[in-house]
Parts: sequence; C-alpha cells; structure tokens
Amino acid sequence: MHLTTAVAGAAAGLAAGPWIRAAVFRLSVPPDAPDRTACPRCGSRLRSAIACRCPSCREHVALRCGVTEIASATVLGSIAYTVGPRPELVAFAWLAVLCVALATIDLIVYRLPESLTLPAYPVVAALLAGSALLSSEPGRFLRAVLAGAALAAGYLLLALIRPSDLGFGDVLLAGPLGMVLGWTGWRPVLLAGMLSFVLCGLAGAVLLALRRARADTPLPLGPFMVYATFVVLLITPGR
Ligand SMILES: [Zn+2]
Repeated sequence: MHLTTAVAGAAAGLAAGPWIRAAVFRLSVPPDAPDRTACPRCGSRLRSAIACRCPSCREHVALRCGVTEIASATVLGSIAYTVGPRPELVAFAWLAVLCVALATIDLIVYRLPESLTLPAYPVVAALLAGSALLSSEPGRFLRAVLAGAALAAGYLLLALIRPSDLGFGDVLLAGPLGMVLGWTGWRPVLLAGMLSFVLCGLAGAVLLALRRARADTPLPLGPFMVYATFVVLLITPGR
C-alpha cells in the first residue's frame, strides 16, 4: 500500500494540530458571542492559541497538549494510506483537518461555525477542479459538485422537516462532505448520508442505556457526519 504517503500524511496532520487547537479555542463560544481571544482563567489576551498553555497562568487554553495533533495525524495518515499519492489527496486532507476542528467545536458547543464551513466550498471545489485537470477526469469533478449540492439539499430538506434534529450548520457542512464523497462515487454519498444518522441514533441509544442522556437531550450531528464521511472514504475501493 502507500506507506510513504501515509507517513507524509501523518506528519502533515501533526503540523496541523496547533492550527486546529487555535480554531477550537477561538470558536468554541455560543453562536452570537464574539470569538474568544483571552485566557479563560486569568483573562490575559492570547495573541495566538497555538501554544497549548496560557503563557501567563499555564492553564490549558483549549484542549490538552497533543489531542488535536494525534487526532489529525491519525485521520490524515489513514486517508493518505488509502488514497495514495493522487491529486485529490490534497482536497481530502485539507477538508479532514477542517473537519477535526469542526467536529471538536460541535462536541463542545453544539455549533458548526460558518467561518469554517463556508470557505470549505470554494477551497474544496478548487482543489478538486485541480485534481480533475491533473488526472484528466472532468466527469469526477462534475459528479463531486452535483453530489455536494444534492447532499446539502437533502440535509436542508431534513432541517426544514425536523428542525429539532439538525441545524443550518449541519446543512452547510453537508456540501463539502458531499463533494469529496461524490468525487469517489454516488454510492459513497448515499452510504455516508445514511451512516451519519445511524451512528448518531446508536450513540443516543447507548447514552440513554447508560443513563448519560435523556430522550430529549440534543446530540451534535456534525461529528457523526464527519466520522461517516471519512470511514466511507477509507473503505471505498476502486479509487
Ligand atoms: Zn491564563
């Protein structure tokens, strides 16, 4: 398989860890609140949350050291191992880094900030367009764009029917996820779309059984959408 590419992917994931921690620190705030820029313990203004401890009081500023590095290195290493040195790996890896940040923020504050989901549309589209040019596969790019639009439209429909189950952040995240899934094929789009709801339902049932949640406890859907997408990309053959 693609061991060298996997090592390069894991190294890129490690390097992206501080960026993810900074995004999680800055954006793990309620929807209408301004981005966080000061240490939660001593209030000193942090120029950057890239360091994992506040330079004044040594408080962990977002997540414990190494958490984001290990998460993104694992995801990027696995994707690189499966996809190999193909042009679309750049699009997949870029979205994976963004998704580690988004899933973490959604777990902490139940939101998927538009400041992260909206830029994913032009960036993923441009990276996949470049991949289509390099590999002379314009049909795949067209399918990716259509799949992104279709998955976002499907989530929008569900959000309109059942607004208590998913929000506009989930709808916005569905577009770029649909694009990378659609690059691979239509079946992965369907599979990941269904798997995200199945996993979310299972997690809810487990939490209920363990009495860690009530029937009306909201669960963030974003982490399950992200997990389903990258699991499906990892198991999709014939790339
Ligand atoms: Zn501090």
